[in-house]
Amino acid sequence: MNVLVINCGSSSLKYQLINMENEKVIAKGLAEKIGLEDSLFTHTPEGKYKLVKKGKLNDHQEALNLVMESLVDEKFGVIKSLEEIDAVGHRIVHGGEFYSESTLIDEEVIEAIEKCVEIAPLHNPANILGVRACQSLLPEVPMVAVFDTAFHQNMPAEAYIYPLPYEYYEKYKVRKYGFHGTSHRYVANRAADLLGIPIEQLKITSCHLGNGASITAIKNGKSIDTTMGFTPLEGLAMGTRCGSIDPSIVTYLQDKENIDAHEVDQILNKKSGVLGISGVSSDFRDLEEAANNGNYRAQLALDIFNYKVKKAIGTSVAAMNGVDVIIFTAGLGENSITNRKIICEGLSYLGIEIDDEKNAIRREEVEISTPESKVKVLVIPTDEEMAIARDTKDIILSHSIDRIISDSLDKALH
Ligand code: ADP
Repeated sequence: MNVLVINCGSSSLKYQLINMENEKVIAKGLAEKIGLEDSLFTHTPEGKYKLVKKGKLNDHQEALNLVMESLVDEKFGVIKSLEEIDAVGHRIVHGGEFYSESTLIDEEVIEAIEKCVEIAPLHNPANILGVRACQSLLPEVPMVAVFDTAFHQNMPAEAYIYPLPYEYYEKYKVRKYGFHGTSHRYVANRAADLLGIPIEQLKITSCHLGNGASITAIKNGKSIDTTMGFTPLEGLAMGTRCGSIDPSIVTYLQDKENIDAHEVDQILNKKSGVLGISGVSSDFRDLEEAANNGNYRAQLALDIFNYKVKKAIGTSVAAMNGVDVIIFTAGLGENSITNRKIICEGLSYLGIEIDDEKNAIRREEVEISTPESKVKVLVIPTDEEMAIARDTKDIILSHSIDRIISDSLDKALH
């Protein structure tokens, strides 16, 4: 079975075609700057030359047309016809309270995703464009929605209800949703596999540290709390996002700077985090370089980031009343030897000990704690596309089986 995984952002479209028999990626690519004059399309087929195209892509439909052409292209293609695509898995950012797991897409599902546009205005509209564009090109192919929020839908109310007038939850569904669920779920399952312990017996703190960053407490295989909230702005200090701050700062800044709510929102989302503190960059590699060259604010940004991560790990341990495994994943978590070391040094009260030699790796599955460490610390590269492809395959297969059973029942009854 070949599964096409689609991840649509507001101006980008990422894709992977995966052969699910051996879980090999047979082609992947990215359309960037959709809608701008200098759109860029990159298609990387397995075992063939890379295709790069520059020139305006007006919308997601045009981008997807190019994806399909490239997949079947004589020189750069990997399949003979689009009929070789058996299913499509879509990354959908927000499933609200509608979905606690991945689901087969039909009009009702699209309506539910549309209902969530109000609470995910930057992400869900692009996700719907991706689904619609795929439907027009592959009308007979089944599609599955995999939600970033789904994994967190089983959190207890004490974790997801904000201390606000309860009516705002009832009227507007203002509550903690949490994000990066596909990544947290993938690395937690991977950790259980690697340790050979059923996930139902583990307390796991999963640290997804990339441009966006979140930490999730996973007890018995379920997310019981997470740092991101109603939107992906809450929680840790991030590349450009402020994370949790005193909410009064919002109205204070509005008054002082004479700006409206929308402008404050932009500052909190785009100009804050380690970029805002350092004034140098949102990229941790740049910050490390600047800090090594004596830049005080770059060092301060790194210190604040690490401090918030350490505290959030502590919170997650408290939520679970213990921890067996801590996982580092995503761009920074997988790569930054220094950040991992500093964060873990601040957790020695948990009996955590890091092996510096094992920690000296990037983007590999490794246990970086010593055999004596009371908590296992793992680096696990995340693979959201594979998680989406696996869910897609499982759902399509279970629906096919359901259909066969109901067809046979129909026949038997007539
Ligand atoms: P996102 O998917 O949220 O955009 P990623 O998970 O790709 O982010 O992470 C991107 C971040 O990872 C970059 O901003 C960079 O700071 C960090 N990163 C990547 N490689 C390294 C590295 N070798 N050392 C330190 N940080 C790194």
